[in-house]
Amino acid sequence: MNARFPISGDAVPYRLRLPGPTAIPDRVLRAMAQPIIAHRGAEFLARFRDIQAGLKPILGRTGAVPFLFASTGIGAMESAVVNVAGPGRRVLIANNGQWGPVFKRLALAIGAEVDEVVTPPGSPVDLEGVERALKAKEYAAVLAVHSESSTGCLTDLKALGGIVAQTPALLAVDSVSGLGGAEMRQDEWGVDVVVSASQKALMCPPGLGLASISDKAWDAIQGDDLGPRSYFDYRRFRPMAEKGEPTYTAPVAMLTALHEALTMIGEEGLEATLARHKRLSAALAAGMKALGFSAFAQGTPSPTLVVMLTPEGIDAPALIDRLAGGYNMVVAGTHFEHVKHRMVRIGTMGALGDGDILADLHQLAAAIRDLGGKCDEAGALAAGAGGRGPRRGARRVSRRLGYPTSR
Ligand SMILES: *Cc1c(COP(=O)(O)O)cnc(C)c1O
Repeated sequence: MNARFPISGDAVPYRLRLPGPTAIPDRVLRAMAQPIIAHRGAEFLARFRDIQAGLKPILGRTGAVPFLFASTGIGAMESAVVNVAGPGRRVLIANNGQWGPVFKRLALAIGAEVDEVVTPPGSPVDLEGVERALKAKEYAAVLAVHSESSTGCLTDLKALGGIVAQTPALLAVDSVSGLGGAEMRQDEWGVDVVVSASQKALMCPPGLGLASISDKAWDAIQGDDLGPRSYFDYRRFRPMAEKGEPTYTAPVAMLTALHEALTMIGEEGLEATLARHKRLSAALAAGMKALGFSAFAQGTPSPTLVVMLTPEGIDAPALIDRLAGGYNMVVAGTHFEHVKHRMVRIGTMGALGDGDILADLHQLAAAIRDLGGKCDEAGALAAGAGGRGPRRGARRVSRRLGYPTSR
């Protein structure tokens, strides 16, 4: 179930291990190559309705269907902001990393009044701070990030939803790097707007956005003229979505990709998919610790990526260059200045198996050695294989990468 893109002349396969975009399974790629059919014809509408239905359990939403549109993740975030806020409306942003400030930029751009509850990157959202702020003032909305992919923190949306539900404010959540890999219970947790995008745990290329709104959100949005908006006006999306139709010309190839990805999640079973994300992220974190890396985030780690600080003496940008140049393994660094030379971020979302994690550990170990560092690869493979022993781990690595690990 893993996409492999042998790049001609390269000995090792190209491994896209970013926290998004993620590797696309071959099945999804093949689905995208199907003919582009009429976006309002019966055949496509059946596919579209399947997607709407298939997303509902992943969102934890019964009732209303989600909206689907051509957009990146930030576009989907903007759609949330322009529908819950407006000029002069007050919003509260729970900011604990890189994506809260994006919400802030979007809200300021439309003239909203912005307050923030800030905690340093790597810390969980300050729930008590949010509660205090909501008691002090009335807000149109609280904006938060589900899986903060700059730090690896997972937000306790159940607790946050419980706090916001006591007030008239709407809770809008960026789950771009969460949905499909981290549990989402929109109805149960009281999340009023969930926005996401195709290129993370949903195993598709970048370019498709989605939004799912609660009944509380629809009550607030309909008939309320918040401010200038058009393409992203949920009042245009809602009646079309309820009829099972796309609002605009549908990105047919992208939706066909998502249809296949949702079929894959259905075949594995949503519970199993979510459990696999938890297991693989924990395995990668344990293996990296055995290699000498240390954890960055406090609180609950996101199951969709692993964020770690390099072993003493290993420069993160040099390690990232060595992984790409020597092993065709592509991982991310950071935009945070203070950890620029230490932070590495690796995605654990989408179409991944145990062998991928062991291949990650093997290639990390090799790159560390290339840079003159010392590490315990056998110990890392044993930790990454969930204590099933380094030999088994090594066998799976060689199968994955097509070369003997004992070379
Ligand atoms: C990847 C990501 C986004 C992405 O936005 P794009 O516009 O698709 O680049 C937004 N929020 C989070 C939390 C992400 O991880």
